[in-house]
Amino acid sequence: MSYITLKKSAFFNNLDIISKKTGDIDKIALVLKDNAYGHGLLEVASMAKEYGISRAVVRREEEALLIQEYFKYILILSPLHPLSKNTNFVYVINDLNDISKFPANTRVELKIDTGMHRNGLLIQEIEEALLLIKRYELNLEAMFTHFRSADTMSAEWFWQKKNFEKIKVRYPSYRFHSCNSAAIFRDNNFNEDMVRIGIAAYGCLSLDKGLQKTGLEPVLSLFAQKISTRRLKLGHRVGYNATYEAKEEMDVSCFDIGYADGFPRLLSNNYTSPEGFELLGRVSMDNSSYKSDQEELLIFDDARELASKTETIGYEILTSLSPFIRRIIT
Ligand SMILES: *Cc1c(COP(=O)(O)O)cnc(C)c1O
Repeated sequence: MSYITLKKSAFFNNLDIISKKTGDIDKIALVLKDNAYGHGLLEVASMAKEYGISRAVVRREEEALLIQEYFKYILILSPLHPLSKNTNFVYVINDLNDISKFPANTRVELKIDTGMHRNGLLIQEIEEALLLIKRYELNLEAMFTHFRSADTMSAEWFWQKKNFEKIKVRYPSYRFHSCNSAAIFRDNNFNEDMVRIGIAAYGCLSLDKGLQKTGLEPVLSLFAQKISTRRLKLGHRVGYNATYEAKEEMDVSCFDIGYADGFPRLLSNNYTSPEGFELLGRVSMDNSSYKSDQEELLIFDDARELASKTETIGYEILTSLSPFIRRIIT
């Protein structure tokens, strides 16, 4: 069956680089949402723990419950109610209306909308939020924000950062964090309490040309195994709707990777594997054909290459990988 390898040395290399940026490994909160960006939640949690990471960020409480033994702090970005009672879990308040839903003494952090206008409290709502938090007896630990354009060369990042700086000055008694991967790689004066690092730890950060080179290495590779081989004659066609026609006699093999595994169907007739094998015809649900008779094929080892061919981002390629594919730490 197809399988995924996770290169521990690459993951640790990336964490080394990120630790140098933060100056303190304890400031790294590793983002493990959505099956650890498709890498495998438990596999990444165990490697992170081995490295010494003590903080995690997830989307759902279900994810937090699965990794509760690994981390002393788990921030849950989109809490559902009611909540479990783990004292290591910290819940994000994304909206004023959320506050009354938390039981007394819940650990919470306030997400502030400094300009992305997606979710989080507006700056002018903070005072009201603080009153409500007091009334409902919640434990507010931090205020944080998220940048909308940290990965592009523009003034965008700077004005949003300024908005957040004002909040830090006004409410100095809390912890603060704002940086995702792109932001930490362009901020040379990092001085906050935490970073929320996802894509950089997985080695697939993309930054505008001109923003610095990072030394990060992709962690994940996807492999497929051969199901069968056949010899095509001139004019034979391969796969659904016969979209590939052999121009000569050749061997073609079917491998066990398809769009249900997360390999984009958009790449049909338009992909060459890193080792130079051409994808022939349509990508099917569970398989696809290549001009190769190898037993095993490296399908990709850098999600960004697939992303650029399908007009998306590495994040989407990675998080689309089926959780049923075996993950092997190498
Ligand atoms: C997903 C997410 C991150 C991580 O972003 P990367 O670009 O992968 O580092 C950080 N903060 C929030 C709020 C997120 O939702």
